[in-house]
Amino acid sequence: MTLKKTYHMKLTPQRLAILEYLEGNKAHPSASDIYKAVSEKYPMMSFATVYNTLDTLRGKKHVRELSIDSQKKRFDPNLKPHHHLICLECRAITDVHRNFALDLTDSERFGYEITGNHVDFYGVCPKCKRGRRSKI
Ligand code: ZN
Ligand code: MN
Repeated sequence: MTLKKTYHMKLTPQRLAILEYLEGNKAHPSASDIYKAVSEKYPMMSFATVYNTLDTLRGKKHVRELSIDSQKKRFDPNLKPHHHLICLECRAITDVHRNFALDLTDSERFGYEITGNHVDFYGVCPKCKRGRRSKI
């Protein structure tokens, strides 16, 4: 597999493996999800390497770190502004592509220049809703 995007950084085999796994990935994986998937193909890769590589990629703005899941950090290779919806039962995260007109008044922004926002939605996904019903 070849990467479609150009990365202005040194692509070590570890970075390459993780970038390849993340490219186009819409599952918002955690570090341990990424480790599980990548170490299947690269058994020499340690969890620490995955963790450190994610930190580097985040620092270079090649991935976004999400805090929507209170249990663990989740990673998103999609850097275009968008929001998220999480299932509180299975922790699945779905993209929300909508431009919310969220404005702060002058008194609310305390002199800040606002550069972005992120809205988190919480709920129960259709799969978990079906599972609930069958348990009753
Ligand atoms: Zn669910
Ligand atoms: Mn996303």
